Amino acid sequence: MHTLKLTNSKQDIQTAGKLLKDGELVAIPTETVYGLAADALNGEAVANIFKAKGRPMDNPLIVHIADLSQVDDLVAFVPPVLEDLAKAFWPGPLTVILEKSELIPDEVSAGLDTVAIRMPSHPVARAIIKAAGTPLAAPSANTSGMPSPTTAAHVMHDMDGRIAAVVDGGPCEVGVESTVLTLCTRVPRILRPGRVTPEDLFDVLGDVEVDDAVLGQLAQGAVAASPGMKYKHYSPKAEVYIVDGSAEGFAKLVNEKDPATTAALVFDGEESLVECRTLPFGAEDDSLGQAEHLFDDLRKADELGVTDIFVRCPSAEGVGLAVMNRLLRAAEFRIIEVD
Ligand code: AMP
Ligand code: MG
Repeated sequence: MHTLKLTNSKQDIQTAGKLLKDGELVAIPTETVYGLAADALNGEAVANIFKAKGRPMDNPLIVHIADLSQVDDLVAFVPPVLEDLAKAFWPGPLTVILEKSELIPDEVSAGLDTVAIRMPSHPVARAIIKAAGTPLAAPSANTSGMPSPTTAAHVMHDMDGRIAAVVDGGPCEVGVESTVLTLCTRVPRILRPGRVTPEDLFDVLGDVEVDDAVLGQLAQGAVAASPGMKYKHYSPKAEVYIVDGSAEGFAKLVNEKDPATTAALVFDGEESLVECRTLPFGAEDDSLGQAEHLFDDLRKADELGVTDIFVRCPSAEGVGLAVMNRLLRAAEFRIIEVD
């Protein structure tokens, strides 16, 4: 299959909408990461997303809408709190999990009786949903397990020849996937952290829990509340190690490695401490910047052809919780302590 490269022009957005309505797969820009979209109400089209990504069939997808009125048909029941959440965070990088309606194909919900819904803020994503005239199911547009794509070039790297088209909307602003919040527990619970932080949600909900799987490793045989959490994930080909300690301790450890096969993700201003090639992880106190850089850096390290990537340990506060959550999975929970 030849993958069409589309721009964000009006005409190309109409083309993308038509392809989606016809049951094809189209990668679309969103404010979080690029999504691999299909008509959410077409089970056959949605099944092709799993094939293109090599995604396990038990990992459900997020349904993207452009208008709040689209929620009604997709869920069994709209809890009053959704209005407060929508007012505060939609359109934007928050996904909510609700009891699903009969309209949701099993392929979308992966057999669960719930559905994940989000209203993205990216103007191109919104225009494509409207052009398609249907909600769009879309996971991240990467090969399953690889770092999520934050540019159209990342998408082409993974999906060229496997999907009908990719719409180039430039680099993603947030750089990590949406916050996933379930409203199906007694107290609303964060299953995946993102740009919308626990503090942001607490301000609206008055009470919110963070699932143990966010920073923890799921015990053997345990059931994941969010199936995506159980896989080794976001990993480049090289091995990733988180290094917790000072910049000097980090440099001492990394400078003992072979610079030909090693790359380091360092905070701004630390480049000269390290002998191997470095990739910019943003300022030490800037979780937003770190979120924006992380996946692009991991992919760049693979392009350098290194076998090991050492990463300065980020703060896990605020948006940092999302950075740490992705990094722990990329590193398979390996943390090296240094002075
Ligand atoms: P992706 O956007 O590719 O990272 O995938 C969507 C994420 O949302 C995955 O982590 C899924 O496990 C999660 N998700 C989607 N639907 C549900 C659901 N009904 N219940 C729990 N988690 C879900
Ligand atoms: Mg994903």
